[in-house]
Amino acid sequence: MKTGIFGGTFDPVHHGHVELCRQAEREAGLDRIFVVPARLQPFKLEQKTADGQHRIEMLRLAFSADPRIQVSDYELSREEISYTIHTLRAFQERFPEDEIYFILGTDAFMKIELWRNYGELLKNYHILVGVRPGYREEELERLIRRLEQEFQADIRLLTNKELEISSTDLKEKIRQGCPLGAWLPDIVERYIKEHALYT
Ligand code: NAP
Repeated sequence: MKTGIFGGTFDPVHHGHVELCRQAEREAGLDRIFVVPARLQPFKLEQKTADGQHRIEMLRLAFSADPRIQVSDYELSREEISYTIHTLRAFQERFPEDEIYFILGTDAFMKIELWRNYGELLKNYHILVGVRPGYREEELERLIRRLEQEFQADIRLLTNKELEISSTDLKEKIRQGCPLGAWLPDIVERYIKEHALYT
């Protein structure tokens, strides 16, 4: 089986995340994907987020239409910092026969050499990189080529729709009381309102 792992803070989940995940599923022919919200994203340790339970519920609503996509509480249920390599090792141990694909966006990928045990990550797991508006194509492709040579990595650049959406901008829009329909699924917008999140 080809199993995708899509990690993120997802505070909150939006159309950009859903589009990236679905495109990874289609282009790499993934049999299933686990969406894994981080408890403590290593580069955002100081950042306050909505409670993990709310983030997980919003993800379940956003991905409910696709039976191949499940939301996992693997990182949220652990006290430790959410290092991706620990999560990937754990899923590989759970599914030893599977090929594991890690899904991420351009900004995260461009900093991958700062991640814990990134060489092991690149050698042992496939990488699917989604794009977003304004991504630096040449710089990205140079990095992909270099990491492929250095680690015999398998890195694929996806052709996902480029959506100008970020969780940070979204939180600002919520504070201003703007309609959110263009940014995230209606059902997630209702959840945010019902629980008065990000106000
Ligand atoms: P996030 O902001 O919630 O976003 C999740 C993913 O969706 C990111 O890869 C992001 O790519 C992508 N994305 C967001 N908006 C998008 C859009 N409009 N179009 C296309 N893609 C979009 O997640 P995050 O906080 O950056 O964390 C990403 C993952 O990296 C997590 O699993 C985290 O634990 C992991 N990480 C690990 C380490 C480590 O192990 N040392 C260090 C840092 C992060 P962009 O990056 O382009 O925004």
